[in-house]
Amino acid sequence: MENAPGNPDDTPLSSAKRLLLAYLAEHDAPCPVCHYNLRNLTQDVCPECGQQFRLTFGAVNMRLGALLLLLAPMIMVSGLALLFLCIVCIEPGRAPSGVYVILVTGFLDVLAAFAAYWKRASFSVHPRNTRALLIGLSWIANLAIVGLSIAYFWR
Ligand SMILES: [Zn+2]
Repeated sequence: MENAPGNPDDTPLSSAKRLLLAYLAEHDAPCPVCHYNLRNLTQDVCPECGQQFRLTFGAVNMRLGALLLLLAPMIMVSGLALLFLCIVCIEPGRAPSGVYVILVTGFLDVLAAFAAYWKRASFSVHPRNTRALLIGLSWIANLAIVGLSIAYFWR
């Protein structure tokens, strides 16, 4: 059904509203706020709670698992560095000099984790093999840091 030219309802917003109402004319859908069944809704407002709706779309699978696998070792080393920072602050004389290497790498890992999270969209479009390689490198580098920190701390 077309609106007459010049009709103020003939906007992209009203087009989205028409699509929303057409969908709800044929489907059961709960109100996201009060769970009232919105089937056969005639306005873009819930009759039960008054919540207004809009038509949107989103990704089914954000592929966050690979990003979490990339970030996990960085967060682990950052946490270890925070633990060592507490030890250095509590007993500054007992901390071995190697602890400061871990503190610096932990700080760099925090920056790397924020950068990886910031650029997560470009990470997720890499081919699967490239993502696996980056995840593997992150784990290897950070496990090496953990190994070195343990060797320094207990020598
Ligand atoms: Zn509602």
